[in-house]
Amino acid sequence: MKYIKEIERVIETKVLVIGGGTAGFGAAVAAARNGANTLLIEKGQMLGGMATAGLVGPFMTCFDDEGENQVVKGIFEELCRKAEERGGAIHPSKVDNMSSYCSYLSTGHKHVTPYMSETLEVVMEEMVLEAGAKILYNVHLCDVLTEGEMITGVLVSMKEGLALIRAEIYIDCTGDADAAFYAGARCVSGDESDGTMQPVSLFFEIGNMDREKFVGALEEKKAKGELGIPFNNCWSWYVKEARKNGDWTLVRDEVGNYEQPIAGRWKINTTRMTHIDATNTEELTKAVMEGRRQVQELMDFFRKYVPGCENLQLLQVASVLGVRETRHILGRYKLTAEDILERKHFEDAVCTFAYAIDVHDTEGNGGVLKSVNSYYTIPFRCLVPEDINNLLVAGRCISGTSEAAGSYRVMPCCIATGQAAGTAAALALQEGRNPGDVNCGALRETLLEQGAVIWD
Ligand SMILES: Cc1cc2nc3c(=O)[nH]c(=O)nc-3n(C[C@H](O)[C@H](O)[C@H](O)COP(=O)(O)OP(=O)(O)OC[C@H]3O[C@@H](n4cnc5c(N)ncnc54)[C@H](O)[C@@H]3O)c2cc1C
Repeated sequence: MKYIKEIERVIETKVLVIGGGTAGFGAAVAAARNGANTLLIEKGQMLGGMATAGLVGPFMTCFDDEGENQVVKGIFEELCRKAEERGGAIHPSKVDNMSSYCSYLSTGHKHVTPYMSETLEVVMEEMVLEAGAKILYNVHLCDVLTEGEMITGVLVSMKEGLALIRAEIYIDCTGDADAAFYAGARCVSGDESDGTMQPVSLFFEIGNMDREKFVGALEEKKAKGELGIPFNNCWSWYVKEARKNGDWTLVRDEVGNYEQPIAGRWKINTTRMTHIDATNTEELTKAVMEGRRQVQELMDFFRKYVPGCENLQLLQVASVLGVRETRHILGRYKLTAEDILERKHFEDAVCTFAYAIDVHDTEGNGGVLKSVNSYYTIPFRCLVPEDINNLLVAGRCISGTSEAAGSYRVMPCCIATGQAAGTAAALALQEGRNPGDVNCGALRETLLEQGAVIWD
């Protein structure tokens, strides 16, 4: 069927950031601070994406694997400090592994950043506005117009109807690489060998427990050396019993409970739906409904089995499904797990990271949690699609293998790639070049001047 209609509403900007999650936040702040007229569009009504609407947290570690040096700073660091000033975060330097803030995990979990999603959405919005970018919520990208290898405009659905947004440079921060995909850029869905994607989860928050009893029971197990090595196994002993009694049908055998800056308030990362392609509307709908069912089962489990949870209350359930993996763009460079583990040197590195390669099992419990070799870097070429010239990509959908994404998909790194993409876009405008051809030396210098960490 053909649909032909004149688009009357046209919006113009220089840099268009599509998607306001952690990557989009970093990209919009960086592009605007570096002088580019920047518009950020977001289909929801808040910034943060998974970090806020998805209730995901804490920020995974931003330190090297030894837990000694912070390797993500810049805009990420500012966000942590500002959220902490509001009482809505604890700076990662103060947070140890094997603690209530990281579900008593050891590997890769030293110096996580616990935060309140409610604080984050406010601070992120303030930072984007203060940088001078404009935000439009309720704007859903639905198609991309191209001429040759250039994007000439994007079609969006707004409350008023369809509109066209024209920019000189576009930054895809949708998590799913929607803009790249609609533009015809080549993408790989999930694992390149068989399309497998990491399982999806629906986060929720609980409170009104007897914290002393709850934490006491976990600390007792920790003292006996029975927690957190290498995987989270909180409450696994009760899960076993509940499964036997028919009170537990989830594929996981443990509970991920992450305490927040308000003592006794916890984010729960335990629901698991496998073999879901979150770029498919039917599957997305099925998964979010199953997630809500699993939340109810988990609430019953907590109240019946877990010490201190007799009067537990469900505080909130995420309004969007937690999606770990969908499309990865095919960029000028594809980062691999070997690059990460062998710490390959990149002349065009734009950020440093060190979280473990964390791939959740698609069939059931556990997965892979592989420590990196102290730290690694991400080359700028991973942010540059092979086949579209005025587009950059940041966040979990940059160019890399599914296994490599198991590390860089987490939020501090998404903010860092966002900062790199936003800075590159602003510099490219000044240089009159396509963003992928920006002077990389100048880009790296600017990033370093603005607080980013780029190790050799
Ligand atoms: C269950 C789960 C647990 C996790 N645990 C952790 C953890 O503990 N710590 C950690 O650091 N990371 C964790 N992660 C990883 C991390 O949350 C995400 O990978 C990361 O937030 C992705 O950031 P992003 O900006 O790329 O995408 P998102 O946060 O998904 O942001 C994308 C934004 O784009 C918008 N958008 C999408 N499509 C469109 C469109 N077509 N038009 C307009 N807007 C659009 C979305 O509404 C969203 O706001 C977890 C992820 C999941 C799913």
